[in-house]
Amino acid sequence: MQKGQIRVQTENIFPIIKKFLYSDHEIFLRELVSNAIDATQKLKTLSSIGEAKGDLNDLRIDVVLNVEEKTLSIIDKGVGMTAEEVDKYLNQLAFSGAEEFLSKYKDANIIGHFGLGFYSAFMVSDKVEVFTKSFREGATGVYWSCDGSPEFELNEIEKEERGTRIVLHINEDSAEFLDGYRIRGILEKFCRFLPVPIFFSEEGV
Ligand code: ADP
Ligand code: MG
Repeated sequence: MQKGQIRVQTENIFPIIKKFLYSDHEIFLRELVSNAIDATQKLKTLSSIGEAKGDLNDLRIDVVLNVEEKTLSIIDKGVGMTAEEVDKYLNQLAFSGAEEFLSKYKDANIIGHFGLGFYSAFMVSDKVEVFTKSFREGATGVYWSCDGSPEFELNEIEKEERGTRIVLHINEDSAEFLDGYRIRGILEKFCRFLPVPIFFSEEGV
């Protein structure tokens, strides 16, 4: 007799996310905007207790559509992430193993509760890029990108402003999200009454 464990390869994670986890693809935008809100609120809190130094300036979130480049970007001026934080928060789930993922998945109400929110970006993207800089003094900019395979890229970059820019390279099946009316509609539906103002704009039209 032989006993063992079924191994699930991480390569299988993204197709699962794409097809089954989120039936409603448009929620990716709610997930990314709520992360931007969280990051901004964290900064406000840290500033109020004196842990974030300096002027916060106008805290806002921008959603920018570029039809020519087929990108949708979500930009915040929140806490940002250090390279360690990017590694911990963005690399962990997809690459620390399918087991953990599936045990979370079993608990049904996944979105926004089990740290899978960010991954909903891969439902609509061929590639996701993150440009971020932590509020911490002396922090350097960090670039992360992933094309939906378990390989990611993580580099230091020059970045002046504090905060995070998430760039989604919208995939062919998701061309509906390259439509300004569609994006506006989703923002109106999910992103009203939020504690940070959200601005939508279009580039390259
Ligand atoms: P959750 O929001 O439930 O924690 P997510 O998958 O949505 O799970 O995000 C994972 C983590 O990545 C967040 O908890 C946060 O630490 C980090 N993160 C995601 N987006 C941002 C952002 N815009 N700014 C700073 N940190 C972020
Ligand atoms: Mg989230």
